[in-house]
Amino acid sequence: MAGLSLKPAPEPLALVQSFVNTRNIMHGYDLLEDTDEATAWLFERGFVGGGVRVDEANRRLLVAFREGLRGLLLVHNGEPGEEAGAEALNELAAPVSLSVRFDMEGEPRLMPAAEAGDVVGEVAGRVLAAVVLSAAEGTWSRLKACRNEGCLWAFYDNSKNRSGSWCTMDVCGARSKMRAYRRRRSSE
Ligand SMILES: [Zn+2]
Repeated sequence: MAGLSLKPAPEPLALVQSFVNTRNIMHGYDLLEDTDEATAWLFERGFVGGGVRVDEANRRLLVAFREGLRGLLLVHNGEPGEEAGAEALNELAAPVSLSVRFDMEGEPRLMPAAEAGDVVGEVAGRVLAAVVLSAAEGTWSRLKACRNEGCLWAFYDNSKNRSGSWCTMDVCGARSKMRAYRRRRSSE
C-alpha cells in the first residue's frame, strides 16, 4: 500500500497505523470511503472473515473511530489535547469488549470479544487491543500523525529523542520549513 513502507510501526502497532492510514489526505483517497471498499479492505487485512459485510452505519462508526485515533496521534505529536476528542473516542470504545486468552506457551493474548456479526466490535476490538499492548511496550506514544495539516499521515517516530514531527522530511518537513522561512522573511 502506498506510503506504508514509510516509517512503519512494529507489530502490533502496525495494525493501528494501517487502520488510521486507510485515509490518505495528501493523495486524496479513503479505503473506507464506501461499504464495498471498506468490506474489501477489512477482509484483506484479516480484520473480518469472508462473508461479513460492512453496512453504512458500521462504516460511519469505523471512520469516526479512525479519526478519533488520529486525534490522539496528533496529541503524541505535541498538539494540545482536545478533551472532546478523547471523550468521543471513549464513547465509541465503550461498547467494545476485550478478553484475555492464553496460548499453548502460556502467553496472554488480548482479543476482541465481539458477538458474531458485530463488525465494529471486532475491528475496533483488534485495534484497541493493539493500542493497549503497544502502550505496555512503550511504543504507542511514538505513533504520531504528521503535523502537516494537508497530510496527517500516521508514522512511527523512531528517533532517539522522539522529536519527529513529519511523516517525511523531504515532503512535509521541507514544506513546513519553507513556510516558516517565508513567514520570517515577510515579517522582516
Ligand atoms: Zn506528512
